[in-house]
Amino acid sequence: MFKKKFYVLITSCLLSACITSPTGRSQFIAMPDAQIDQMGIQAFDTLKKDKPVSTNSQYNQVANCIAQAVISAQGGGNWEVVVFEDKSPNAFALPGNKIGIHTGMLTLVDNQDQLAAVIGHEVGHVLAKHSNERASHEMAVNSGMALIQAIGAPQSALGQTAFGLLGVGAEYGILMPYSREQESEADIIGVDLMAKAGFDPQQSVTLWQKMEQASQGQQPIEFMSTHPAHATRIQNLQQRMPQAMLLFQQAQAAGKQPHCN
Ligand SMILES: [Zn+2]
Repeated sequence: MFKKKFYVLITSCLLSACITSPTGRSQFIAMPDAQIDQMGIQAFDTLKKDKPVSTNSQYNQVANCIAQAVISAQGGGNWEVVVFEDKSPNAFALPGNKIGIHTGMLTLVDNQDQLAAVIGHEVGHVLAKHSNERASHEMAVNSGMALIQAIGAPQSALGQTAFGLLGVGAEYGILMPYSREQESEADIIGVDLMAKAGFDPQQSVTLWQKMEQASQGQQPIEFMSTHPAHATRIQNLQQRMPQAMLLFQQAQAAGKQPHCN
């Protein structure tokens, strides 16, 4: 049953639902952008109710300063940035222009460039429609409308799935790691974005090394569970570095020199 439905969806992809990602990959996208945006917005509202929001003015100022710089590098738009009071180092971006950063991530990073690397990577997942891609495959089993409605009941099985598809399921007991292809894509988009915003792209490599080190401790790191390590991540970032450094130098020359610390 599942296989048959899935086959029909994939076949229809050949006719209408295939798009090309920002890095040139062919994607099966079946959910209208407006619907996935609505899911992201509703999930973010639920998270704001369920998780304590930080009132630390320094954390909020630093997070907003860095996020806005990265966002303006992808053409701007109105994005909401919220710092959550949570010691686990995590950050996420949702369709519908939402960014969440845990206080634990702010304390983990050494400098503004490393946080820009995290935000760039997260925004990369959104720009490349990775949640939509995952939800589109899920639609072989559940309708888009059922998924949207399930956001209102995060403790239910389908609610957990809906939050998981958006990459923010941990709070409700489900982790859905992004695929290796999606991770590589978010890495490339992210490193270009941070560089265009005037942040040092080389800090993206340091950031991931730091993450891997931190995840070898006793507590598994949520961020590494949804953004799994792959052996070639650092290598891929380094391959991209000459281009990213060029973007960084151009941004610096154009006066984009963020001071968010
Ligand atoms: Zn990722």
